[in-house]
Amino acid sequence: MSSDDQEFALIRWIRSRVAEHPRLTLGIGDDAAAVRLSPASASHVLVTVDMLMEGVHFTMPPATAGDVGRKALAVNLSDLAAMAAQPLAAVTAVALPRRRGVSFARELHEGIQSLADEFDVALAGGDTNCWDGPLVVSVTLLGEATGRGPVRRSGAQVGDWIMTTGSFGGSLSGRHLSFPPRVREAVQLHEAVPLHAMIDVSDGLAADLDHLLEESGVGAVIRADAVPFSDAARDASDGQSPLEHALADGEDFELLFTVAGDDGRKLLAQPPIAVPLSHIGDIVSGTGCELIDEAGNRTPLPPHGWQHRF
Ligand code: ADP
Ligand code: MG
Repeated sequence: MSSDDQEFALIRWIRSRVAEHPRLTLGIGDDAAAVRLSPASASHVLVTVDMLMEGVHFTMPPATAGDVGRKALAVNLSDLAAMAAQPLAAVTAVALPRRRGVSFARELHEGIQSLADEFDVALAGGDTNCWDGPLVVSVTLLGEATGRGPVRRSGAQVGDWIMTTGSFGGSLSGRHLSFPPRVREAVQLHEAVPLHAMIDVSDGLAADLDHLLEESGVGAVIRADAVPFSDAARDASDGQSPLEHALADGEDFELLFTVAGDDGRKLLAQPPIAVPLSHIGDIVSGTGCELIDEAGNRTPLPPHGWQHRF
């Protein structure tokens, strides 16, 4: 069992033990939760948290303290983008390695602040600790859904188009530290047409598609030649194909979403955003995902990505 499998098994176990609560309109299982502000209120606050650990999510070098601060907020912005929500405010908890001193801690904060300014996020507080261990940063981000409401992982319908922003693969060669969270793009897409389901791609295109399919109770067919791979995926020289990188690498922080076919056509004909959009496949009944190649051959696409078997 991989550590990812263990992580998801633990989350499933926690989810099975946590009772529904009337204050939660969205609980465990999505990119952010939605909390009702009062029983009578229609207002909700969305909340998400992500923790970055040195040696697991980044290494220093090549990452600088500023890069890590930026990424710690960026991954949370990406989770709110996945709900097509607007960010409001953040709190940050840090475990600082004592030996790195004060200037390191300031640089970390400046990385957070630069992105907070760019996305108009109010920095509302946090918690500062020092220890002899590695750097750990956790950001909790609050947000607000826009007019059409939050987009869940669970809304995909049979016949929907599966679409993505941007391109995939090779992010670990650098982009994972500087990616632009797709907050504005998500809101603009959801304003243009109703998005049925959405997730941000952090674990990998195949893995995050699997999360979306599982939550929606549907299956998918992905066309291999339609998956947009990045320059970094094409340039990788480790024997894996660009497609393998695109499906499995992760940390792309692009949007993966589903829409009605007519709305998908509309998005391609008149894109409401500057980031490229791709139609990579379709939602079908059943479970799991199949990959279809140019010759029409179908193979199962496991959540950890497609592996060349020859
Ligand atoms: P993401 O990759 O979008 O950050 P995760 O894979 O980390 O999402 O988490 C999946 C879901 O499980 C989310 O809804 C998250 O809130 C929930 N979750 C993760 N860890 C825990 C935990 N320790 N306790 C409760 N819920 C958790
Ligand atoms: Mg996410």
